[in-house]
Amino acid sequence: MTSTSPRDLVGVGIGPANLSLAALAQPLPGLDAVFLEQRPGFDWHPGLLIEGARLQVPFLADLVSLVDPTSPWSFLNHLRARERLFPFYFSERPHILRAEYEGYCRWVAERLPALRFGHQVDAVRWNPRSELFEVDYGQVDAEGGVEALGRAHTRNVVLGVGTEPYVPEALRPLVGAPEVAVCHAADYLAHRERVLAAGHVTVVGAGQSGAEVFLDLLRHRPAGRERLHWLARTEAFAPMEYSKLGLEHFTPDYADYFHALDEPVRDRLLPAQWQLYKGIDAGTIAAVQEELYRRTLPGGWPDVVLTPGVRVRTAGWLSGSRVELHLEHARQGLRTCLATDAVVLATGFRERPVESLLRSLDPYICRDAAGRPRIDEKYRLVLAREIAATGRAVYVQNAESHTHGVSAPDLGMTAWRSATILNAVTGTEPYPLPRRTAFTSFGLRERAASRVPSTRGGGAVALTPLVDGV
Ligand SMILES: Cc1cc2nc3c(=O)[nH]c(=O)nc-3n(C[C@H](O)[C@H](O)[C@H](O)COP(=O)(O)OP(=O)(O)OC[C@H]3O[C@@H](n4cnc5c(N)ncnc54)[C@H](O)[C@@H]3O)c2cc1C
Repeated sequence: MTSTSPRDLVGVGIGPANLSLAALAQPLPGLDAVFLEQRPGFDWHPGLLIEGARLQVPFLADLVSLVDPTSPWSFLNHLRARERLFPFYFSERPHILRAEYEGYCRWVAERLPALRFGHQVDAVRWNPRSELFEVDYGQVDAEGGVEALGRAHTRNVVLGVGTEPYVPEALRPLVGAPEVAVCHAADYLAHRERVLAAGHVTVVGAGQSGAEVFLDLLRHRPAGRERLHWLARTEAFAPMEYSKLGLEHFTPDYADYFHALDEPVRDRLLPAQWQLYKGIDAGTIAAVQEELYRRTLPGGWPDVVLTPGVRVRTAGWLSGSRVELHLEHARQGLRTCLATDAVVLATGFRERPVESLLRSLDPYICRDAAGRPRIDEKYRLVLAREIAATGRAVYVQNAESHTHGVSAPDLGMTAWRSATILNAVTGTEPYPLPRRTAFTSFGLRERAASRVPSTRGGGAVALTPLVDGV
């Protein structure tokens, strides 16, 4: 084992959140940062890059623009580099295609020198003697096998490990059986041909991905013989809240307000705001209705059932490749069974658990009444005094819904959160942030006078890898 010089910052995971951090960190002189990603290259929700699907936020919610529109890593600069500014200007579509956003992020990822793909982080530890974090990783080959092990030493860690597909307990028996066409929406495109070819298809879940999958299936099944069911647990195929003032829930002002609320209040509030983040974008609802209507033109109704208010109680196999879903409509007090040939589980995503990654940090992590990590207003885990006193920190991106509210996974907060982290890590203010971001005054307390960056987490020195060369 060679001796190592510590980095200022090691990022774990390279999705949009840590890619934004890497992009904003890149021009900062003396800041020594490296970002580790387990996948072989940048990949953003590949199973849901359905043709025509658009971002739910305008392009200004790119990796950098909402804090630094002059950054070379902006979406507009990407368009300039690709000589596509004029066509984009005339398209007048601020909500860009999802595939286009992925292409833009890939363009940035291919140009930032601090990114290391094929590096899976297994553990983050605190070394009290060196007063540094140790980040253990494995270098992963194309088949997912670990080729070599390494360790990085760093003053700060930023976890940006994102979300993972969620399947409710009742539906778990269906997953992974090769003989049945059942997949999570996250893997939809990989299974699309098989699902499209099935006799009868059921989509479970009425969030945005459920709507997009249903629309794609509807558009590609034969008219009059669609044989499609779309089941929603929610009371309606509800639109996402997208009013101008409603959108102010996705501002730093609201996140500050939410963060200052008591824990039980936050826990009650977040699920009550489901329509801010769980509904369907109105354009997708309109496209579904339009496609259904178009199919009535020859006369008759499409062979489609859309039913909200339905819960799947249990699920199992009938024979061979058929699936049986046991359904319940609580309002009616009715139960029934549905036999189907393929199921797409559009049952959402959950924050990826970090317990195993942080196991050895556990004694230092301060937790709330529900056992979740406490996270301060600068996205730092609240750690025991022993670590906190050193100025070192573990930051999280997109794992703070319980402390910061609905905006945690929103791409519109990505650049702001990255800038907040960089301001705190450097102890200077490379990215001055506005004091006010919303017309709404959330709560009755006085607005904070300023957002002052915290003390610097340490100087800039190089990380020496044990095995490879992160
Ligand atoms: C289909 C879909 C569409 C969305 N569209 C929008 C939208 O239009 N607007 C919006 O505001 N929000 C949207 N979101 C929500 C959110 O912005 C995205 O989920 C976004 O990808 C979050 O970025 P992230 O970097 O936090 O996580 P991710 O994109 O999930 O990236 C996390 C990365 O960390 C890596 N990783 C995990 N563990 C490790 C480890 N131990 N070692 C190394 N690497 C690791 C993963 O491989 C992954 O690449 C969408 C979400 C989904 C699922």
